[in-house]
This record gives sequence, structure tokens and C-alpha cells, in this order.
Amino acid sequence: MTVPSTPHEPSAFVRRLQAGEQLPLPADSVADWETFPFEGELRVRPLQPPVLPEPARSGESGPEECPTCRKPVTEALWADDHWRLDAVGTESRLPAVVMLRPRGHYDLTDLPAERAAELGPLLQRAERAVRSLDGVARVHVNRWGDGAAHLHFWLLARPAGLMQLRGTFLPVWEELLPALPDEERREAHRRIAAALAAEGGTLARLPPRRTEPDDPPNFAPTGLLCLYVRSDVHRDTSSPRTRARRPSVCASRSVPPYPARSSPPPFSPAAPHRRPRPAPE
Ligand SMILES: [Zn+2]
Repeated sequence: MTVPSTPHEPSAFVRRLQAGEQLPLPADSVADWETFPFEGELRVRPLQPPVLPEPARSGESGPEECPTCRKPVTEALWADDHWRLDAVGTESRLPAVVMLRPRGHYDLTDLPAERAAELGPLLQRAERAVRSLDGVARVHVNRWGDGAAHLHFWLLARPAGLMQLRGTFLPVWEELLPALPDEERREAHRRIAAALAAEGGTLARLPPRRTEPDDPPNFAPTGLLCLYVRSDVHRDTSSPRTRARRPSVCASRSVPPYPARSSPPPFSPAAPHRRPRPAPE
């Protein structure tokens, strides 16, 4: 992968700005938008001096050090040979927040032509899958790329009727709303994964997981849903039910769900993604 470099010297644009300067808040600023989540007296933070060259992003040095590449695909909600869809974090404050990523270590700039050709139709499928949830008016598809070098698209479900959550500030509102109940969040993930798989995907390669008495009523022991349940159980150990099932879950992960990649990265479990979490990257 080509590591993008940033300049070592400030550009003319940056040189025009004064570090430490307290910029005025324009009269027609975002603070007046009806979608702005905050009220009260506001000040613009002083500009900080530039940092050049910029520090490397997560995973910038290659797949061996990339958290996404080291994340087992068995933790995905859905995957095929080249792409994966994951839940974000261990809780959600919107009907769904998921992330679409290539399984190979690419950024948008160096995404192979074959993967780039798949991306448009796949984004459409992912949006349809998220929008199939009850009460979702729109799906916001965002890509920032400032924090992680591995290409990733955020898909955020905007609740129907909440006009205040339209547009730019939905990721901010997502930090402020009450958390979704765990089972509601899991059901949303099941439905997203099933909707995606209905239009393609290769999760049926997984062996079926045996049904347990405390499985949700609508649990179907297919390969697809088996993958999802493993992921959720492994990351959510807070409830007695999941703790009780953990040994069998971990043992079942020894079954490889996909053909090995040419250079599979070593497995190294990352720390759970819990709040407070950084801004979308
Ligand atoms: Zn990577």
C-alpha cells in the first residue's frame, strides 16, 4: 500500500491563519441551524498551530499493524470474499451504526479497480439493508479517513420523523441520544445482515450453530446468523447469558469461515470499543 505523505511545511492556506487566534462566531453560523445540537453561549476554539508532517494514522504502516486487518472476519455482521460489514462499538444511540470496509488493506486511493467497481453496488446494498429497519428515513454514508488508513465507510440510520437529526450533525446527535436496548440493537444487526445476504454474500460457508434454549425467538441457526451471534457474544460479556455461553462460542471460532488470505495477519484482539470514543475518523 502506498503510504500517503503530508507536507513538511505549511501551505499558503495554513500560513494565512494565526495559531491562537480567537475567531468570531459568524452571525449566521451553524449555531443557528435547527439541526445544531447545542444551545447557549458559544465560542470558537482558538486555532492550534499546524502539525507537519502529520502523525501516521492507525494502520498506516501496513496490514500487520492495522486494527482492521487484525480483526477476525468472524466478528463481522456480514462479509463476502472481499468486503465486510461490522457493528460500531458495543452500543448504539441510533437505530443502527455500521461500517463497510474492504477485507484487503486499502485506502480509497489505492483500492484495486475490481474492488472499486464493487463499491458502488455494495454501498447501495448496505444502504438498502440499513433502511429496511423499521422507522429509518435515511442512511447517512460517511467517509472521513482521518483516523484510520484502512478504507471504511460509516452508515448511520437517521430515524424517520426526527427532522432535527437531519444532515451534518447526526454523528454528534448519536453521542447524545439514549442508548438502544441491547436486544433491539442485536435485532437490528440480524436484520441488516440478513438483508445484505439476501442479495449476495458467502456466509453460508459457516457451519450452523446449534440453537440454545435462551436464543431469541426469531433466531435462525443459519451460517449467516451464526456468524453474527458469535461476534456479539464474544464482545458483550456483560450479561450472565452471554458469559454462560462463552466457552462454546470461543471453541467454535477454530472453524475457519473463509479461505485463508494470502498473508493472513496474526490475530490480536483489540480493546473493546467503548464510550467515550473518538470522533468519526
Ligand atoms: Zn488494514
